[in-house]
Amino acid sequence: MSPDLAPAFERAADLLRRTDTIAVSCHIKPDGDALGSAIGFARAAAAAGKEVVVSFGEPYELPRYFSMLPMDLVIPPGEFPARPEVMVVFDAGDLARLGSLAENASAAGTLIVIDHHVTNQGFGDINLIDGSAAASAILAHELLELLDWPIDEQAALGLLLALVTDTGRFQYSNTSARAFYVAAALVDAGAHPEQIGQMVYENAPFGFLAVAGAVQQRAQLEEELSLVWSELRVDDLTDAGVDPVESEGLIDYIRIAREADVAVLLTETAEGTKASLRSRATIDVGTLAASFGGGGHARAAGFTAEGPAAEVIEDVKEYLREL
Ligand code: 5GP
Ligand code: MN
Repeated sequence: MSPDLAPAFERAADLLRRTDTIAVSCHIKPDGDALGSAIGFARAAAAAGKEVVVSFGEPYELPRYFSMLPMDLVIPPGEFPARPEVMVVFDAGDLARLGSLAENASAAGTLIVIDHHVTNQGFGDINLIDGSAAASAILAHELLELLDWPIDEQAALGLLLALVTDTGRFQYSNTSARAFYVAAALVDAGAHPEQIGQMVYENAPFGFLAVAGAVQQRAQLEEELSLVWSELRVDDLTDAGVDPVESEGLIDYIRIAREADVAVLLTETAEGTKASLRSRATIDVGTLAASFGGGGHARAAGFTAEGPAAEVIEDVKEYLREL
């Protein structure tokens, strides 16, 4: 762990050792790092004798690939303690990312924020925030080691799932030696990498192939802006009988175009147009997303905007033109 974070880790560990109950959460619409870290940490806490619950803000639904994780500690957000004594949140860059559980976090006796978004200002009472960590799971693992709480096979699986997904299977620029050390420790603790491979990357319903095809066919290349973008429409999903929650990861089918530094996927949702952004090397899409009210990392970010995709992409193009 980075030396300047050591006092915060010690404070968090002291408090967690003393408390009997821990309420654990992560950002809304959890991805692998958010829920994998939360469940991995919660499971180790339970094994250490703590009374633990895990939840995340509405909507209370998950991509199918999470089915490999133990859900026994997970409860609906409505049943989450209104004023938890100690609440630990993973992978949320700001309070608003907790959605309906932001209120519970504000009312918590002590809020511990564990995250790796560089934009995180530290909205907890204790903040374990390290933008150089490839995944929140790395920080979760470091805290568990400090606590000396037992990491069983299932906890290791959750944490490794988090690490695998946030590093893009150990290929993104955030993949440090530290990521491999933690991964090695997790495999040593009993996590099976092939389980993650199959559950996360080879677990689409057949209809997803048609959805991915539609999105790829619709892709546009704007070479002068080094941009490739496409759109996922509600009809793509209904025509193929695919649940929207299964559509995560479609941006990876767009970003493979080598002509573009930036890839954008726009998804029609009830809340407006959700933009997923990725960049290879040059343009900081985290800053781009922040200027649209979202956030994320330099190489992977997102936001949700009002208005149809056609308007949102014009605004994004305008931003890129002005760089
Ligand atoms: P994705 O494109 O996979 O939904 O999101 C990529 C990354 O961007 C996430 O890991 C998260 O850090 C960030 N992100 C996505 N959507 C939002 C958003 O609406 N607000 C903020 N603050 N960050 C987001
Ligand atoms: Mn993350």
